Amino acid sequence: ALFVLGSFVVACSATVARLPRAGESLEAQAFLVEPGGKGLNLAVGARRLGGAVDGILAVGDDALAALAGPALDRAGLPPEMLHRFPGPTGAGIGFTDASGENCLAVHPGANARLGAVEVREAAERIARSTLVLAQFEVGDEAVAETFRIARAAGLRTLLNPSPFRMPSPEILAETAILVVNAVEAAAFGTAFDIPVPEDTAEPPAFTALAGMLLARGPDLVVITLGASGAIAFPAGHPVLVQPAFPVAAIDTLGAGDAFTAGLAVGLAEGRTLSESLRVAAACGACVVRHKGVFDALPDRAAVAALLRE
Ligand code: ADP
Repeated sequence: ALFVLGSFVVACSATVARLPRAGESLEAQAFLVEPGGKGLNLAVGARRLGGAVDGILAVGDDALAALAGPALDRAGLPPEMLHRFPGPTGAGIGFTDASGENCLAVHPGANARLGAVEVREAAERIARSTLVLAQFEVGDEAVAETFRIARAAGLRTLLNPSPFRMPSPEILAETAILVVNAVEAAAFGTAFDIPVPEDTAEPPAFTALAGMLLARGPDLVVITLGASGAIAFPAGHPVLVQPAFPVAAIDTLGAGDAFTAGLAVGLAEGRTLSESLRVAAACGACVVRHKGVFDALPDRAAVAALLRE
């Protein structure tokens, strides 16, 4: 099984003609409330592609927590993934405009309470898995402990440092696969004082940054660039470029999560990096074609249909 460390977030999103300005109140054309969070998205994305999935998802004890059980059930994920804490469930609010552009804010709620204790309780389940995924909607302590257990068991780990904060040297050292989008690549660039041009998807523009990251632990760095595709830097091997599939984007929310789930399932199944990148890009493209994320995450048939188009 793939093991996914958090997060669970109830995602509320308003569809608007354009993103509101400060102080402005706009009428929304649609409003969607769905179970989400990067952890749930990764878990559902991987499960729909046929992979067995386990993990830890934290919820609070408020009304929003009630959305979690049925969501796991509907996605075919084990109920043991859920961990209950007193207090609020993670929740997010976002806007998507007519061009598919979005902005959002997420309150971590229960996700921030996941710590090394809860992770250690799941140590056997982690060690039994094939690949371990984490993102930054949960705290450093939980990520570090999860990756320590995984690496001690000889497993590969995948980190998507989103929302961005600088990973500790320890977490980076225990990361095998680092997946970042353009925003996160730029943030690493700033932290390392390496210029990362914003207006190009040419691999050479990212070579210095990738080299810096590869020197700190990962053996694979993947940079996703939205409609410009993705670039993979495998340590000691030539760079791979994966173009995006040309689709009409309706809502780009969740593209990175879908991509990461596809990449993880591909690699866990023993596919080559280039095959896995192709599946990942197809997953990202499938999600941007639909409003929302949960129901938009593709199954194998949807990915195959896109690959045939
Ligand atoms: P994030 O959602 O984390 O910001 P990206 O926007 O970089 O991530 O998207 C991740 C991947 O999803 C891209 O590398 C690409 O393969 C796919 N994708 C994203 N946006 C589009 C789009 N408009 N058209 C086709 N594929 C897309």
